[in-house]
Amino acid sequence: MNESAKEQARMLVDKLGLKGPPVPVEKLAKALGVRIEYTPFDDELSGMAFLRDGKPIIGVNSKHHPNRQRFTIAHELGHIVLHRSHLENAVLIDKSKNFIARDPTSAQGIDPLEIQANAFASELLLPARLVRQVLSESAGDLHDDDYLIRLAQRFRVSLTAFQIRLEQI
Ligand SMILES: [Zn+2]
Repeated sequence: MNESAKEQARMLVDKLGLKGPPVPVEKLAKALGVRIEYTPFDDELSGMAFLRDGKPIIGVNSKHHPNRQRFTIAHELGHIVLHRSHLENAVLIDKSKNFIARDPTSAQGIDPLEIQANAFASELLLPARLVRQVLSESAGDLHDDDYLIRLAQRFRVSLTAFQIRLEQI
């Protein structure tokens, strides 16, 4: 299931034919007919996905850091691409706890839908091809946090999201 989620994200990002990061996730969502609405939600609410008149909408917390908003958009896009049938009946609401945590054991209680949406988001924002390309171009020390922060910034993702992805590549 997670492999299929990642495969779908890879197909979408491959079509963009990007020469380098960052992945234009907002543009991609729009190209897929998804409307993004920025709203000042409570802090623990990251975002949501739902249908309005059959059209997919992503709600994003406008008070969160832009990099966090990008992850939210990618995650919600995962729900729209992978879990469309669920959206026919419900609004999917995401709190911070639904997202990737640094401690892998803390993710164990998460709903499979959330794990799939996170796998989709990670693959979409940090495509293996681009991560490897950037690593080989820059050839820094992976134990140097300043170096990793610079790389994460190129992809416009959080350091945590970047570190988790590095462990998979
Ligand atoms: Zn979710």
